[in-house]
Amino acid sequence: MMSDHDRRKQISVRGIAQVENVANIKKAFNRHLHFSIIKDRNVATMRDYYFALANTVRDHLVSRWIRTQQYYYENDPKRVYYLSLEFYMGRTLSNTMMNLGIQATVDEALYQLGLDIEDLQEIEEDAGLGNGGLGRLAACFLDSMATLGIPAYGYGLRYEYGIFKQLIRDGWQVEEPDDWLRFGNPWEKARPEYMLPVNFYGKVIKDEKGKSKWVDTQLVFAMPYDTPVPGYRNNVVNTLRLWSAKAENHFHLKFFNDGDYVQAVMDRNLSENITRVLYPNDNMFIGKELRLKQQYFLVAATLQDIIRRYKSSKYGSRESIRVTFENFPEKVAIQLNDTHPSIGIPELMRLLVDVEGLEWDQAWDVCVRTFAYTNHTLLPEALERWPVSMLQTLLPRHLEIIYEINQKFMEAISTKFPGDFDRMRRMSIVEEADQFGEKRINMANLCIVASHAINGVAALHSDLLKSTTFKDFYEFFPEKFQNKTNGITPRRWLLLSNPSLADVIVEKIGEDWITNLDELKKLKEFAVEPQLLDQIRRVKAENKTRVAQFLSDEYNVDINPSSLFDVHVKRIHEYKRQLLNILHVITLYNRIKADPNIDMVPRTILYGGKAAPGYHMAKQIIRLITAVGEIVNNDPVVGDKLKVIFLENYRVSMAEKIIPAADLSEQISTAGTEASGTGNMKFMLNGALTIGTLDGANVEMAEEMGKENIFIFGMNVDEVEALQKKGYSSQEFIQKTPALKQIVEQIEGGLFTPEQPDQLRDLSNMLRYHDRFMVCADFEAYVACQDKVASVYRDQNAWSRMALLNIASTGKFSTDRTIAEYARQIWGVEPGQTSLPAPYETAEEKP
Ligand SMILES: *Cc1c(COP(=O)(O)O)cnc(C)c1O
Repeated sequence: MMSDHDRRKQISVRGIAQVENVANIKKAFNRHLHFSIIKDRNVATMRDYYFALANTVRDHLVSRWIRTQQYYYENDPKRVYYLSLEFYMGRTLSNTMMNLGIQATVDEALYQLGLDIEDLQEIEEDAGLGNGGLGRLAACFLDSMATLGIPAYGYGLRYEYGIFKQLIRDGWQVEEPDDWLRFGNPWEKARPEYMLPVNFYGKVIKDEKGKSKWVDTQLVFAMPYDTPVPGYRNNVVNTLRLWSAKAENHFHLKFFNDGDYVQAVMDRNLSENITRVLYPNDNMFIGKELRLKQQYFLVAATLQDIIRRYKSSKYGSRESIRVTFENFPEKVAIQLNDTHPSIGIPELMRLLVDVEGLEWDQAWDVCVRTFAYTNHTLLPEALERWPVSMLQTLLPRHLEIIYEINQKFMEAISTKFPGDFDRMRRMSIVEEADQFGEKRINMANLCIVASHAINGVAALHSDLLKSTTFKDFYEFFPEKFQNKTNGITPRRWLLLSNPSLADVIVEKIGEDWITNLDELKKLKEFAVEPQLLDQIRRVKAENKTRVAQFLSDEYNVDINPSSLFDVHVKRIHEYKRQLLNILHVITLYNRIKADPNIDMVPRTILYGGKAAPGYHMAKQIIRLITAVGEIVNNDPVVGDKLKVIFLENYRVSMAEKIIPAADLSEQISTAGTEASGTGNMKFMLNGALTIGTLDGANVEMAEEMGKENIFIFGMNVDEVEALQKKGYSSQEFIQKTPALKQIVEQIEGGLFTPEQPDQLRDLSNMLRYHDRFMVCADFEAYVACQDKVASVYRDQNAWSRMALLNIASTGKFSTDRTIAEYARQIWGVEPGQTSLPAPYETAEEKP
């Protein structure tokens, strides 16, 4: 049998190991094991080898990183700043080797040292500094910005604990802290010399000239940690800068000078808690003060850094230090990833007016030309609306500034729409008091007023922004509204995660698709020949066999690798309708029980995803899935016709393993609720077919591949709206659909949870009485569509042909396209302007 190493060697897109470079990698690896890890091979653990390897690979980044930053300093191009509370980076080692083009060489070096590179890659902890799509988008954007040579910086928080580790215990989700830095992080470099102060609380006073001053504040320091972001084989290395909270040295001693030194040292923890943990909520606003502190901490540190860099330009130093800010927007673009960093708007106003001494109108003009805002959701429960009382306490000066922005905006509305007080109320940044007398600041409204561009993340979503939630704003600022359909980086999501498929593609059309994904359409001409279809089928079968082996090792379940792999992986949320999927699974189970000899396409349904720890209904949905799995997987009547598995702790590194093995991708959100989705694109790129609603980017995927190559079902946005308007009653659907009625009664009767029959009562009640996302209304169409999926799957040739046409139609969904659009249409930056030669101080890079 072929060894893993030999199998990898056959993948030509990885390149060929150079003998001389292999020797140098071995030398560097041994040197790091000795001098950096301080171990010899008698006592070194696998983790030691991982760290020695990470250090070895990192060495190859260093010169390129320094040179790229030097180049930006010398040429002073316009900088792009991507501000995000989340960067869901996953693993770095393999991605770095791939982008540097040293995979094959390193693989060979380790092989000669008696080590397997894949075993070492598995040691690396995911950098799980994100929840789901929004955070992963930020990570894919970084990859594309570097690959397109855009002078860009990611700015975020260095959470000590990323997204929690999910365990499944007795079928329920249990959370454990994600202590990802426990063994150290070889990819980051602390920069204590660039530490910056951040203030909280205090009060606002007016000085003799009537200028506002924010005083008596509590001080925390922001310590930057830099991570290199290499472009794909272009010698560009950008920076992701993450801030970590550090207590001030005089903390508390200043306030309580009672000599309790030990207590004062212990209290340092309080301020360092700011960057302790990522909030684990996806598409949900939790109005906690600590979260607002995190948001302000990020933007306060980042804006100081941006202004420092602006002022210290080569062309602005000494003689002509940049003291004016008129040109600031020509040198700085700031993209807000959702409203999460939106407190940066009043912060920039404060810095310009209170600190730099600009007039209000001048400062406002700079602000609007600098900021751009991306909206990621229309779900009302996800829109950030901070209580005025909280801002008053934590950031009193910012609240004043927001009031002032709002007052001027209200005046502008009344000029354009005199006497239209209802419109003013709807558009106000400061909302009217609620039933408890609480006033709130609507951060999305603030972002729209203060940005020159606002974009949705798929065509449908951008249209809905204009026609629903932000209709009034669209009427007022039509020129600000844009669409930027999301994407994914084809480097991580095909070249890295599915090297065998990448190689099949390279053999047909070469390597240009790696940086120009539209090239994949050249594959279409091969859709009539059996050869490429056979190869695609073979690669999919291999990937499925590997996952089946993993499932057997990990969960002790035996999977039929030739069954249809039906995959639903994403955050668990009612709007994403994992519930609709499991209702279909129960339908199949009921059919088998009714007719044990039924002729059906065997299926393996794989679920994965985390529920927010406080989201009761999402946790019930997980429990229903695991309960159905326990019954179905152990029922001898079912055999290998049906298997249901909940994958524990779904995360970026697991997505990379599972998605290449999927036959069917579940993208079944209620139409109008999923802004874009990016999981959908990963599956399509890896040759899975999609079953989905006309929602988010599914709409554009269907356009690109043709409706005959995707399984679309259910209500569209207009039909959802019409049903809502008419008055939706899930009970009606349950009564008129026998298969559905049976299932609801089975859940109520505790068929799947016999030990505790009423365990899932909240779930069945939800279906009957508050089915907000219309699971029951789409049930029949979904089951019918799934039956069509199965019948097409019986014709493996037809299926493979569709899979090929899916792959060939993914060009639009590269973040390279997304980023080029942001660059030209929002940031005013031309991609591809950074050109750097390879450094060659190491043998690897010698020409
Ligand atoms: C891509 C990705 C997501 C987003 O998936 P959607 O289906 O778009 O919600 C979430 N989590 C992980 C780990 C991902 O890689």
